[in-house]
Amino acid sequence: MKHLPIFLNLQNSDCLIIGGGDIALRKIKILLRAQANVTCISIESCKGIHKLANDGRIKLYERAYANDDIQKQTLVIASTDKKDLNKEIADLCKTKSIPVNVVDSAELSTFLIPAIIDRSPIQIAVSSEGASPVLMRLLRAKLESSIPGAYGQLAKIAGEFRDRVKSTFDNIEDRRRFWERVFSGPISEKIFSGNVDEARTDLEEELRNTSPADIGEVYLVGGGPGDPDLLTFKALRLMQQADIVLYDRLVSPQVMDLVRRDAELVFVGKERDNHAVPQEDINQLLVDLAKQGRRVCRLKGGDPFIFGRGGEEIETLAENGVPFQVVPGITAASGCSTYSGIPLTHRDYSQSCRFVTGHLKDGTMNLPWSELAVEQQTIVFYMALVGAKHLSEQLIKHGMRADMPVALIEKGTTDRQKVYTTNLKELPDIIDNNDIKPPTLIFVGEVVKLREKLNWFN
Ligand code: SAH
Repeated sequence: MKHLPIFLNLQNSDCLIIGGGDIALRKIKILLRAQANVTCISIESCKGIHKLANDGRIKLYERAYANDDIQKQTLVIASTDKKDLNKEIADLCKTKSIPVNVVDSAELSTFLIPAIIDRSPIQIAVSSEGASPVLMRLLRAKLESSIPGAYGQLAKIAGEFRDRVKSTFDNIEDRRRFWERVFSGPISEKIFSGNVDEARTDLEEELRNTSPADIGEVYLVGGGPGDPDLLTFKALRLMQQADIVLYDRLVSPQVMDLVRRDAELVFVGKERDNHAVPQEDINQLLVDLAKQGRRVCRLKGGDPFIFGRGGEEIETLAENGVPFQVVPGITAASGCSTYSGIPLTHRDYSQSCRFVTGHLKDGTMNLPWSELAVEQQTIVFYMALVGAKHLSEQLIKHGMRADMPVALIEKGTTDRQKVYTTNLKELPDIIDNNDIKPPTLIFVGEVVKLREKLNWFN
């Protein structure tokens, strides 16, 4: 380490920038964010700098730099296009012990300006000590997207309560435990989902009751169709903070890899007609675990509210007063559609789409067949592999063309995705002649033909 990251209070301090190009403008904007008094000296300057000067936000002197410009500034940035001049400025600053940054020259600088992730009051600064600013910008983009904006709000509220927490708990251990519970529990979740006032009230309550009854929380999370890149940030965050994860067969191993390393994993099954744990028992298990104070992630394939029985699970939670959150996921129809190049709707071929369960009960599907057997519509059948013959017969019987294009998408969005295209009449033969396994979706509609042109995945 050649540089120590520190955070400077620049409020109302005089800072000088020499140079007036786009880079100087970027640095000026950073200084203004830190509420510094900025002066810029440059023979010529860009539009943005002019605007800041006209708006009275900085002082601009459009003239050549002179040595006596450097007096007692808190810091100086040299951003001219003349190497010699930048060096002269840096040398002078060093003799006067004024911190100086020379753009694009870590060697001449006594301080560097990092890439900043601003979650005020939290500031995260990233630097490669000048080795690769571009790489730092990429890293910043990664951090930007993985740290929710609401972290700043969380820190603000923690700041508001800091003194009171200190006076409530005399010892540091108790304080640490209190804050850990707040930061990883329902209160911070409320802040993340925008209920700041409610969170404040809960925090008051928690403080008043120094040994609160520890109730956990349940996160009903949609894990998407398989590709882990399709998870939402919120899903990932909750998967990373759960103490225990209840998952089933539809959740891909790659998604399971992203669950917190030391979380307890419980498989609750769900193969067709072979539920490892019956639904009512899962509902009750969620309640029991939360009441033990645990943070439970109920991780489901696709979206929990699309053929996922998510509604039943949270109904039981609500009845038992257990706090919960629901996180949407990309449903299989949407994932399989994009990853197979078959749009769900298309101006020319399909003006609506329907998601339908093809689950067979007593050998039939209780569906409004005549509504389904129409042109200009896409139907996506979930859980229909076993009932494919039945659905093919019923659609044809209710007037659909026997040559209506059909696609079967097996293990969509994963690296084992397979797509079979056929038509309605031949659908049962395709299934008989190939070893197609669940999870598989069946798409019916003219849009299937677009795959020839639009497929990009495999
Ligand atoms: N909640 C889920 C659906 C659960 S029903 C969601 O929103 O996607 C289970 C059915 O979903 C499976 O029988 C299959 O038809 C479909 N399915 C789920 N994941 C799939 C995948 N990766 N590829 C193809 N079909 C999938």
